[in-house]
Amino acid sequence: MFIIFGTRGIKHQIKESEVLSNACPNCNNGDLIHKRYRRWFTLFFIPVIPLDSLDRFYECSRCRSAYKESIKNILQQSKGEIEENQRRARLAYAKALIASMTHMAVIDDHLAKEEEREIMDAIENFDEFKAELMDLYEAVKTHKNKDNIVFNYLNEARELLSSETIINILAQAAIILLADGSIEEEEEQLMKEYLIACGLPKDFYHTLLEKLQKKDVSKLKEGQLN
Ligand SMILES: [Zn+2]
Repeated sequence: MFIIFGTRGIKHQIKESEVLSNACPNCNNGDLIHKRYRRWFTLFFIPVIPLDSLDRFYECSRCRSAYKESIKNILQQSKGEIEENQRRARLAYAKALIASMTHMAVIDDHLAKEEEREIMDAIENFDEFKAELMDLYEAVKTHKNKDNIVFNYLNEARELLSSETIINILAQAAIILLADGSIEEEEEQLMKEYLIACGLPKDFYHTLLEKLQKKDVSKLKEGQLN
């Protein structure tokens, strides 16, 4: 009788192994499961003694693709990028909103208390950008649309946000129209300019006002214009 010995690699799922959900770059939605590939000393092809742990890797539970452990860093980096993009979009939204609300409030050369309160309420909603937004508020309050600042922010928002979100910004700016109880000619004109700048029909002005005057203001503020 002769003894057949050798080595054989066996994949183990690491106890309490980490799962990177829906992260497989190959099939796009497979879970990546942390595994260990270990060589065993075999006797008659049966693993009997585990040798040193050789490799750790992630394996997709769906398509079985295997990745080096460093995939985690790469995935995290791109998650970081996603978060950064979301932050940029939130900031673009906030700036377009505060710039247009403030501009609307001062277009008749008078900032009413009610208008200021609406703007301060809006700024309060963006804790992470508060300082920046206060600066922007002061700048537009003093210089209005100097250097086209307000329309530049609207344009930037248009590039990053959906049209529903843009309409929501304009709807909130329209609240300023009514905040001091009267709609000035300049305010109406400006709102129509905003609509055109955002690629929306200027007749949308009447739809917006209708909604606002039906006391849908609280819904508008919560972003439920429809
Ligand atoms: Zn996969």
